Amino acid sequence: MSGIRIGIDLGGTKIEAVALAPDGAEPCRLRIPTPRDYEGTLQALADLVRRVEREAGGTGPVGVGIPGTVSPVTGLVKNANSTWLIGRRLHVDLERALGRPVRLANDANCFALSEACDGAGTGADVVFGVIVGTGTGGGIVVRRQVLTGPNAVAGEWGHNPLPWPDADELPGVPCYCGRSGCIETFLSGPGLAADHERVTGVRLGGEQIAALADAGDAMAEATLRRYERRMARALASVINVVDPDVIVLGGGLSKLGRLYVNVPAQWARWVFSDRVDTRLTAPRHGDASGVRGAAWLWPAPEAI
Ligand SMILES: [Zn+2]
Repeated sequence: MSGIRIGIDLGGTKIEAVALAPDGAEPCRLRIPTPRDYEGTLQALADLVRRVEREAGGTGPVGVGIPGTVSPVTGLVKNANSTWLIGRRLHVDLERALGRPVRLANDANCFALSEACDGAGTGADVVFGVIVGTGTGGGIVVRRQVLTGPNAVAGEWGHNPLPWPDADELPGVPCYCGRSGCIETFLSGPGLAADHERVTGVRLGGEQIAALADAGDAMAEATLRRYERRMARALASVINVVDPDVIVLGGGLSKLGRLYVNVPAQWARWVFSDRVDTRLTAPRHGDASGVRGAAWLWPAPEAI
C-alpha cells in the first residue's frame, strides 16, 4: 500500500504501532510489551517498524508519541514517567536505528492532533486535547499543527494551580511536581478517588463512584459535582488564554458522559465573555488517538 504514515505510541507498559492510510484507515496495527531498558526499547521500535511495513506492504514516515517531551534546546527526553528514557537522545538514536527522519511528540499532543485531524475536532481551527486519566495532560493543535513552544510545554496545564479556588481547596494536596493544589491533583483519576476518600473516608475508583452516583448515592453524586465544577474552572482558564473551538477529553475519565453536559453548563461563570461557543466533546478515537496522532505528525507522504 502506498501513501502510508507509521505511528508509534511508546507507552510505559506497551508499544503500539499503526500503519495509517491517507483516508485514516488502518491496514495494520501491532502491540508489544515495552522493554524496561533503553537499548531494548530502541531495538524493539526498529523491529516493530519493519514488521508494520511488511504487513502493510509499504513504507512511510515514522512519528512517535512518547510519555514526556524532547527538550528543543538539549534534544534530551524530559518529564517522562518511563524513567529509562530521561536524559537520552531518543530522537537521534531512533533516526539512526531506523535510517530515516523521525518526528517525536508528547503523547497528549498526539491525542490532540489525532482528534483534530479526523476525530472529534475535525474541521476546527483550534483544538485543545485533554487527557484525564492517571495524570492530566494537554495539547494544543492549531490548523492541524501541534503547538510545541520553546519549552515544549504548550498545553501542559495540569501543573498550574486549580483556578478560582474555594477556601476548602487551599492549599491543596502536595503534587509529585513539588507544588500543591495542582489541577492534576484534582482532575486525574487518582485525584478524583482521593477527593472522594477525603470527604467520605471510603476508597473507590472513578468507575465505582460514577456507578454509585448513577444509582442515586448522594455522596458519590456530590463528589462528581465537585469534580465537574473544578473541571469547569480549569477549562475556563484555558478558554481565556487559548480560546479553542473544541476541547476534546481523553483518558479514563473521558468516559463519564455527564461531563459533556455539566461542565459547559457552568464554565461561562469564569470565561471572560458574554457567551461561550467552545464545544466540549468526547473523543472519536479514544485510546487509539495516541498512535494515530503520532502518524499524523507527518504530512501526507506524497507532499514530502
Ligand atoms: Zn503538580
